[in-house]
Amino acid sequence: MKADKTAIDGDAFELFRARFHGQLVQPGDAEYDSARQVWNGMVDKHPAVIARCTGVADVVAAVTFAREQGLLTAIRGGGHNVAGLAMCDGGLVIDLSELRSVHVDPERKTARVEAGATWGDVDRETQTFGLIAPGGVVSDTGVAGLTLGGGYGHTRRKYGLTSDSVRTIDLVTAAGEFLTASPTEHEDLFWALRGGGGNFGVVTAFEFDLYELGPEVMTVGTMYPLEDASTLIRRWRDFVADAVDETSSTAVLWRIPDLTAFPEPLRGRPVFIPSSVYAGPVEEGAKAMQLLRELGTPIVDPSGPQTYLELQTKYDPFFPAGDRYYWKSRYLDDLSGEAIDTMIEAMTKCPSSRTMVAIRALGGQIARVDPSETAFTNRDSPFMISIDSTWTDPNEDDENVQWTQELWDAMAPYATEQIYFNFDMNETGEDVRRATFGENHERLIEVKNKYDPENRFRVNQNIRPTVKPGS
Ligand SMILES: Cc1cc2nc3c(=O)[nH]c(=O)nc-3n(C[C@H](O)[C@H](O)[C@H](O)COP(=O)(O)OP(=O)(O)OC[C@H]3O[C@@H](n4cnc5c(N)ncnc54)[C@H](O)[C@@H]3O)c2cc1C
Repeated sequence: MKADKTAIDGDAFELFRARFHGQLVQPGDAEYDSARQVWNGMVDKHPAVIARCTGVADVVAAVTFAREQGLLTAIRGGGHNVAGLAMCDGGLVIDLSELRSVHVDPERKTARVEAGATWGDVDRETQTFGLIAPGGVVSDTGVAGLTLGGGYGHTRRKYGLTSDSVRTIDLVTAAGEFLTASPTEHEDLFWALRGGGGNFGVVTAFEFDLYELGPEVMTVGTMYPLEDASTLIRRWRDFVADAVDETSSTAVLWRIPDLTAFPEPLRGRPVFIPSSVYAGPVEEGAKAMQLLRELGTPIVDPSGPQTYLELQTKYDPFFPAGDRYYWKSRYLDDLSGEAIDTMIEAMTKCPSSRTMVAIRALGGQIARVDPSETAFTNRDSPFMISIDSTWTDPNEDDENVQWTQELWDAMAPYATEQIYFNFDMNETGEDVRRATFGENHERLIEVKNKYDPENRFRVNQNIRPTVKPGS
């Protein structure tokens, strides 16, 4: 759909422009096409205006203008959402990408992070003080979307979800009001924002708890032939059942990347990798995870200590901005042999050599938080799988999307009804959304009714309000 800037009232827009300090980008402007691009090259949306905010005052002005003009409103944090939820067709995008400051307080072990920051911004500042915030595993992923939707990283079993480490959240509501939500202020909102996504307002900053880790951590990246994976993933499953919280492990089905770091004949070979990180002393981690390097006969074993900053950027080259992505997820209450074999079999027929299937072992600190404590409901499932289809050529869209959907369907008999919204194309129906929020769904609707009764913020995994505004 092509956007039409004449759809916006000219006088009102000039008033808005006078109040707004950042850049307003519209169709026809030189920067329009780059400003509307998000990480997933499959997304091609045409907003009427992109409001690049320079601070809270700009966010208030943009929210107010969009409300008064009745414009569909999207919010862009890092722009990494696979479903392209940072953009909309024909409406206004509140773009926070210039608000990226990170301020660490090493005494209190906290960081104040603006909502346009990426995890790379956070890691760089926090590691300067030997600290980490438990964020995502690719450095240019946005802090905001990941945190509001939960957040699983390399230290998830030790420190829980990213949203579990949030202390306070600053946001601008649909009414244009600035609030700070915390355990003692606007507690209902604070509860909903930790897992309920971008439904309740525009977050301008987070404050996180930080933890001591690094500069080096022990990692396992042993690569085994996919032909042996049926037996080896069963062994991996037994290992993670008894693993200490410090170990966060993901069984990755993939192909050896086409990188000079790997000998030429090995590149492109299908593999199983028990990819793991130890959130503690390196020597302790080496001992605790040694078994993962001896599950079978490796093809190559690039395991070893790495700096935390190297670890947090090591997947970056495999997920460049502008390529084509179609990702889906499911939770599993147990990892049966049949489930394992279904994924391996699918990988042998995968149309893209870059696609990855990842089986994340969960539990640990994630499961110690009661599901009612925050809006993030699924605390119990021991595994979450993501099918991360990745390719470059638009002519290959159909076969990659179809393969992903077929595997997602094939995993249904082994899975719960819930999905992880942050790895989802936002095309599943109301029933999946309800099942995913589960027992927290009704409470989320109450918070939505209170803070966004007109559903101004609906370009997300939407919680629909049930009150009529003003009633
Ligand atoms: C390469 C890659 C790696 C990833 N790795 C991980 C990982 O390790 N762990 C994990 O859990 N997830 C991971 N994800 C998924 C990630 O959590 C989601 O894509 C998330 O939506 C990204 O956040 P963002 O701010 O970049 O997204 P955006 O596209 O900017 O926004 C996503 C959603 O959040 C809302 N939103 C964004 N900013 C705000 C704000 N300031 N206020 C209110 N709402 C807002 C938007 O409206 C939208 O609905 C990864 C994704 C990619 C593409």
